[in-house]
Amino acid sequence: MTTALDKVDSLEELAEIASACTACRLSATRTNVVFASGTKDAQVMVVGEGPGQQEDEQGLPFVGRSGRLLIELLSEVGITREDVYIANVVKCRPPQNRDPRQDEIEMCKPFLRRQIELVDPVVVITLGNFSSKLLMQTTTGITRLRGKAYEWWGRYLVPTFHPAAALRGGERVKNDIRADIAIVRSLLEGRIIHDSEEAPNLANSVELIPVASEEQLGLFGTVSS
Ligand code: SF4
Repeated sequence: MTTALDKVDSLEELAEIASACTACRLSATRTNVVFASGTKDAQVMVVGEGPGQQEDEQGLPFVGRSGRLLIELLSEVGITREDVYIANVVKCRPPQNRDPRQDEIEMCKPFLRRQIELVDPVVVITLGNFSSKLLMQTTTGITRLRGKAYEWWGRYLVPTFHPAAALRGGERVKNDIRADIAIVRSLLEGRIIHDSEEAPNLANSVELIPVASEEQLGLFGTVSS
């Protein structure tokens, strides 16, 4: 199925459409639509869950404590805020920071799908259960998904914990996110083992796990025509 958004060919135009979107109930309580931050040339795209209070007020994603922690962890391996494109599964803040509902995710999904297509990143990092399950079309939780790299739509996908979980869970969760970001670094540097190849002499090389193919699923479970 194609949507009108599949035909939008710039991020600017897509953001403008999102800014006036009233497709789900979250439009009634938002202050700002939080579309994304970062450049279209980013090699890394980060996909979170939805805006919190500060993001809603400022209209920018990941500007609160979670965001600062994420940027800090990325910068430890030389990836700066300027190197990444950051977006969320839903673009409007769920009231009282409740979880986004399935119908809200479904309505907002075409924006994210088109953002990924237009940015065309090398690696997508999904943060937490909502974005990881949506993009991977799985019911498996983040604890079991993380720690690996997946081949996904001609690019790589690395699921990890949401940084808010690290703020609650302390050093152990933070170190798990660090380990996942190290995988991202390895992917960007081409340290990859394909299938059952003999492991080459590459430090910290990454073995890829295939996710269901385009033919089987379509991006996010929607087959484009
Ligand atoms: S959350 Fe997404 S679908 Fe819902 S109103 Fe905001 S932009 Fe539109």
